[in-house]
Amino acid sequence: MSRVAYVNGIYQPHGQAVVHIEDRGFQFADGVYEVWSVFDGKLADYQGHLSRLARSLTELRIDIPMSAEALGIVLRETIRRNRVRNGIVYIQITRGTAPRDHAFPKDVAPSVIITAKSIDLKKGEALAAKGAAGVTHPDMRWGRCDIKTVGLLPNALAKQAARERGAYEAILFDEMGMVTEGSSTNAWIIDENGKLRTRDTQANILRGITRAAILKLVEAEGIELEERAFSVEEAKRAREVFVTAASSFVMPITSLDGTRIGDGKPGPVATRLREIYLEQARRDAV
Ligand code: PMP
Repeated sequence: MSRVAYVNGIYQPHGQAVVHIEDRGFQFADGVYEVWSVFDGKLADYQGHLSRLARSLTELRIDIPMSAEALGIVLRETIRRNRVRNGIVYIQITRGTAPRDHAFPKDVAPSVIITAKSIDLKKGEALAAKGAAGVTHPDMRWGRCDIKTVGLLPNALAKQAARERGAYEAILFDEMGMVTEGSSTNAWIIDENGKLRTRDTQANILRGITRAAILKLVEAEGIELEERAFSVEEAKRAREVFVTAASSFVMPITSLDGTRIGDGKPGPVATRLREIYLEQARRDAV
């Protein structure tokens, strides 16, 4: 089936969709993005991702290029034109195209591109049932990881290092040896005392929308939680390790740098959270 991309107001064949060589996203990574999961053609955690997109743009002083209503229409139209039932929809907004100069250009319209693709949910389910491998990697990113920018080179290098070691995700750690998050996920553990822990958002991490949704479910389930940093060593001794993101939901990590986590199988908390997160995300998708 031929894919379609939205580029600055025009739907184009995916293979021919291009942006200008002086787009600031291309030259300076001067842009932001969002990813929504799509269930039955509808967007999961819609408002959360939309609000974070607006926040990322505001933090970088990129003009919000269209109303939330218009954005909803083009996101859904891109999903429809690509016949995506289950998958993801991706939006990238950059400061626009201008002669190359580090400082912001004046009176330039932001560039907006949207793509959508189908994903076979069965593959993720099979991996979640078995558990995925993780490796640790130093966090080499800039100081504003709360902004979801397209400047993902350190994340890409970390993910590649994970892949070369046969792992699903790279778990990043700071100069103190404390875990920040995954290369494209938030990281969680059930510590030795049975407490659920994840890094607090005062740290230099992305405020994951899936993370936020899970926090609400955790409260409703009465699971004890501490938003407090944990070390790589604590993660290796943990009962469970898992990561969360819009595209992987809740993914149990059953080995870290080759060390078996717990009994080496997906743990009960990760398994339960995955189940109830998916149930809710499907039900509330719009
Ligand atoms: N951290 C990083 C670095 C990410 O790239 C992502 C996914 N984009 C996440 C966490 C998870 O965020 P979300 O749950 O909003 O997808």
